[in-house]
Amino acid sequence: NDEKLYCMGCGAQIQTEDKDKPGYVQASTLKKYLEDDGDEEKELFCKRCFRLRNYNEITDVDVSDDDFLKLLDSIADEDALVVNVVDIFDYEGSVIPGLQRFVGDKKILVVGNKVDLLPNSVNNNRLLNWLQQKSKENGIKSVDQIMVSAVKGTNVDKLMDMIEKYRDGKDVYVVGTTNTGKSTLINRIISARTDVKDLITTSRFPGTTLDQIDIPLDDGHNLIDTPGIIHRYQLAHFLNANDLKTVTPKKPLRPATFQLRDNQTIFVAGLARFDFLNERTNATFYVTQGLPLHRTKTANADEFYKKHLGDILTPPTDIKEFPEFKSQIFSAHEKSDIVIYGLGWLTIPAGTKVKAYVPDGVRVSIRNAII
Ligand code: GDP
Repeated sequence: NDEKLYCMGCGAQIQTEDKDKPGYVQASTLKKYLEDDGDEEKELFCKRCFRLRNYNEITDVDVSDDDFLKLLDSIADEDALVVNVVDIFDYEGSVIPGLQRFVGDKKILVVGNKVDLLPNSVNNNRLLNWLQQKSKENGIKSVDQIMVSAVKGTNVDKLMDMIEKYRDGKDVYVVGTTNTGKSTLINRIISARTDVKDLITTSRFPGTTLDQIDIPLDDGHNLIDTPGIIHRYQLAHFLNANDLKTVTPKKPLRPATFQLRDNQTIFVAGLARFDFLNERTNATFYVTQGLPLHRTKTANADEFYKKHLGDILTPPTDIKEFPEFKSQIFSAHEKSDIVIYGLGWLTIPAGTKVKAYVPDGVRVSIRNAII
């Protein structure tokens, strides 16, 4: 039987091969569905829509960047508000370059998620200004910005009010790269405002393989969850699942400050290395608590790394698969952060010069200090 089947919820083509891709059902479910041939009432939902209908819960699926860009393109023709979720722990790894270009002149509301990870001392207005400036640098003309924690529920009500205010009676598209916490946030919104019974899933773009979810708003419009786009430069892509857990912060970052004398080096586990090129300076590291930070003399650093990668300097645990370091020199003209996508950052004072080493393929950049 070659007839193609589609999910009743999202419209994705049914498949039994890859559980992380749209339209997945277990082979046994499909078999059962095909056997109950005489049943007029029968409905086939993919696993994701099934979970959404039965448990009120969204799970992640993988879609290609191409699909995502196609989706952004189709949003360009809709009259809608775009809500862009970014991860403030990994802003550079979660911003979508060219977002504004893709969505045309639509309003974009920028949501900085994971605010719970920042130390409590951080000033909220400063953060909002920082996010606004960052958006501008990335070509995003944000109508507004807000800091939330999807996990803790911080400011989620305020976000809903903001969405109501800016959507102007129109649809809302939620976009973001993977791992920004978009699913967690959407799940919060769903449980805050809908009854399981009310939740209808429909496909906006039949024929595409995009597995998106529409959450009905009060006036017949929808809040539409779009699939996450994958950022290739995140450290996450070079780590196994366990190591990824180790580097992902769960609690507020506890800053670790080092006073550095001439020719010292700091290793962040086996994942990054920083050579300090000034006679005297200091650096404050913002990475997951418990991740080892090792200081050595720069002269010994190569040897130290070779000897200890995978033991004191771990993660990574799989050192065979781990790419070689590549280095780049940064000079701070003002108080700045050196950011390693997905790992965190270190703050250095104006005038500091640092040689940063990260695995080949991971991106590292400099920005005005966030804190
Ligand atoms: P998605 O890929 O954007 O849908 O992201 P997920 O919702 O799957 O979340 C990715 C990771 O970030 C998971 O480990 C979540 O537990 C975590 N996460 C999501 N929201 C928050 C948050 O507000 N704070 C913290 N600390 N972690 C979060």
